[in-house]
Amino acid sequence: MEVENRYIAVRHHVECSPSEDDFEVKSAAVHWTAESGEVLVRNMYVSIDPGQLNRMKRHSASHHSVGPIVPGERIVAHRVGEVLASACPEYEVGDVVAGVLAWEEYTLFRPSPVMCKVDASSGVPLSYHVGVLGMSGTAAYGGFFEVCRPQSGEKVFVSAASGSVGSLVGQFAKLAGCYVVGCAGTQAKVDLLKGKLGFDDAFNYKEELDLKSALNKYFPDGIDIYFENVGGEMLEAALANMNTYGRVAVCGAIAEYTDPAGRRAAPSLLEVVYKRIALRGFLSYDFMAQFHEYNAIIRNWIREGRIQVIEDVSNGLESVPSAFAALFRGENVGKKLVKLS
Ligand code: NAP
Repeated sequence: MEVENRYIAVRHHVECSPSEDDFEVKSAAVHWTAESGEVLVRNMYVSIDPGQLNRMKRHSASHHSVGPIVPGERIVAHRVGEVLASACPEYEVGDVVAGVLAWEEYTLFRPSPVMCKVDASSGVPLSYHVGVLGMSGTAAYGGFFEVCRPQSGEKVFVSAASGSVGSLVGQFAKLAGCYVVGCAGTQAKVDLLKGKLGFDDAFNYKEELDLKSALNKYFPDGIDIYFENVGGEMLEAALANMNTYGRVAVCGAIAEYTDPAGRRAAPSLLEVVYKRIALRGFLSYDFMAQFHEYNAIIRNWIREGRIQVIEDVSNGLESVPSAFAALFRGENVGKKLVKLS
């Protein structure tokens, strides 16, 4: 079987805020044969993640752990797709699979731990497997419960709180009996956090002249847990307001991804030492062994209506570049993904 595969590639390394012009749609034939040992998938949903920008840079710490994205080549991403042809006994035509594929219409893969079959009849929307039941959910669950080790009654601050990871972390924190405040970049997002998502409070960080004072206002008794998605000034302000034995889970630092000469967080190490703050970075891949366990818990919470899933869906492969660029302008609400077919 042969299909014409359209895929998205970067034209060159991307060091600043991405724009649609940094990308191109390319096309190549994909051949599948019954002797290949491969599975051919028609992709349905693709995940759009801010961290992919770091992999598009010429030099980045991300290259050591998840590898670079090479100009002109396919861009690996999380996806859901339907099996069109299979030369593996584990997969049949019509199966739905989720895992690491690419920003493209068709993908060939061999069975591996990063691919799994999805029960398409479970009633869970298939798109959830690139977000809440994919790497966003794993990062949120592992980062919050394993890295932060929350106790009921603790005070939790979440940045980029209306986004894919942040919106889940805040809701997980409420389920753990914590007091939760989130920040986001528009009033509509703040309203979403305080309304539908059940945060105790929320604020628009763009309207605050002094983030340290703002956090002091929202946390007069200090912050026990900071779930960090943003970096820069936000991390400094959070550290200044942390309590003794506070924990900071560093999931990402999106404010530091787009300006190579821009501001970097300069965390006060005196705050860290004298307050005995634990500051730990992590990757969702660190929790691969717990992936199915976390998914089962999150899936139950969704079924019981205990968490809300917010998605922001664009349509068609051509919309991938604009969907990606939108993340860095704060235009998405919840999980950004693209529906291909
Ligand atoms: P997201 O929050 O759904 O989307 C990005 C959001 O970041 C935007 O909507 C925007 O919201 C905010 N933002 C953009 N530029 C900003 C800036 N300069 N300053 C402050 N906020 C800014 O994305 P996500 O997928 O959930 O990812 C959130 C963070 O987690 C990112 O740093 C990402 O790299 C990281 N992450 C890490 C892992 C891991 O394995 N460690 C996995 C997934 C994601 P506002 O309107 O609020 O500004």
